[in-house]
Amino acid sequence: CGIFGAVNVQDAANFVALGLHALQHRGQEAGGIITYDDSRGFQSAHRFGLVRDNFTSAKLMETLPGSIGIGHVRYSTAGSKGATAIRDVQPFFGEFSMGGAAIAHNGNITNANAIRKELIERGSIFQSSSDSECIIHLMARSIQRTHAERLKDALRRCEGAFSVIAMTRTKLIGVRDKLGVRPLVLGRIGAEKEGGWVLASETCALDIIGADFVREIEPGEMVVIDKKGVVSSRPFERVSPRFCIFEQVYFSRPDSILGGRSVYETRRQIGVELAREAPVEADLVCPVPDSGTPAAIGYSQESGIPFAMGIIRNQYMGRTFIEPSEQIRNMGVRLKLNVNRALIAGKRVVLVDDSVVRGTTSQKIKEMILEAGAKEVHFRIASPPTTWPCFYGVDTPERSKLLAARMTEDEMRDFIGVDSLKFVSLDGLYRAAGAVEGRNPAQPQFCDACFSGEYPVAPSDMIEAGFEL
Ligand code: 5GP
Ligand code: SF4
Ligand code: MG
Repeated sequence: CGIFGAVNVQDAANFVALGLHALQHRGQEAGGIITYDDSRGFQSAHRFGLVRDNFTSAKLMETLPGSIGIGHVRYSTAGSKGATAIRDVQPFFGEFSMGGAAIAHNGNITNANAIRKELIERGSIFQSSSDSECIIHLMARSIQRTHAERLKDALRRCEGAFSVIAMTRTKLIGVRDKLGVRPLVLGRIGAEKEGGWVLASETCALDIIGADFVREIEPGEMVVIDKKGVVSSRPFERVSPRFCIFEQVYFSRPDSILGGRSVYETRRQIGVELAREAPVEADLVCPVPDSGTPAAIGYSQESGIPFAMGIIRNQYMGRTFIEPSEQIRNMGVRLKLNVNRALIAGKRVVLVDDSVVRGTTSQKIKEMILEAGAKEVHFRIASPPTTWPCFYGVDTPERSKLLAARMTEDEMRDFIGVDSLKFVSLDGLYRAAGAVEGRNPAQPQFCDACFSGEYPVAPSDMIEAGFEL
């Protein structure tokens, strides 16, 4: 999911809508915005679909007045069952003795089921099926006197991954879990003193509104922002961070800065590592666009094999993976990608993609590219085999549906039906992401559980439900 908040700006809702639009790649199912204005109080709008189709109409935006607001773009993850209802769409709102507050959450709370069960037994009435709603109910039960302190109390009970943006009538609050699994950045807009502040999942959302990138919120940090400025605190114990390495591979936008590094540069460097680890003789290096493009550029630069757009992407389709049903996902590949026949015919082609999950994308692409007359097809993947599900906010399917959990690399190659298939090593990936020495097995610098099976936080709800590590 993507989250965004702004304070101390005129018509905050417009900034929030623009920020969410820049974060649309993080969730395309639905979006919501809440604002506060002294005369109108808290106002909200929650809609299915894209930001640009909802939060651009003047009629709707006029209903969201005020100089403070937060928003959320949603994609449903592991925890959520069945279709999304509009009441599952964030931000969530609650009334407290000291006034209303709203929250928007990116990540996944791995003990949410246990918390929910306990709260329901003690009388809480849940409105949604979302793990994030726990936060509001836990805040309601806290005896602290400020929203920020209540939010701390609530989040201290939550395990797993959370970047949270909250708002009250006057304050914008940002928090990251102690491992810093999901990103969150701070930006500044307008003149010093009277200027505004923004919080966003990624820096690309600052660029769109012309805000300056101030810094990342640190893992385990809370910032409370109002007219007087930013106050930082450390509500959680300090541990070494475990930023999601898949954000670097796929999830974040390549024009964002993560952990002080350009995501584009990390991805290009993964391609360089791949070319060193898995060279092959070929005529062309082609990306599976858009997610494979920076790595394909790196592979081409390092190998000296010319880069070419052998597959063309229809710009009017969203991200395939985010389509909930198998059937649509199957068609999705053809609706979204087409082979550039004139270029491919008779050529030995290296295809670079970011990941193989179920194998649907690679299989379809192989078919299309052989139909177009390619002589050889070599797949190079810019991440290690995805062998474990993510429980921290990325929607990977259950283990049995992960191709790499069922097959060896050679079996996958034969299943997909290509001449060769190679994945970047975990060390190669770490090097590309800035860990010069590679992965430190005693204390990995990132979360890489979907590749290694080493979960930095035991997914307690899933274990309770019978998941075996
Ligand atoms: P597959 O077709 O193998 O199931 O999925 C791999 C494709 O899905 C890749 O092209 C990748 O770009 C895309 N993808 C989109 N969203 C996600 C996601 O959340 N996780 C993973 N692992 N891949 C995703
Ligand atoms: Fe990211 Fe994978 Fe860890 Fe999930 S399991 S947080 S996708 S690295
Ligand atoms: Mg892709």
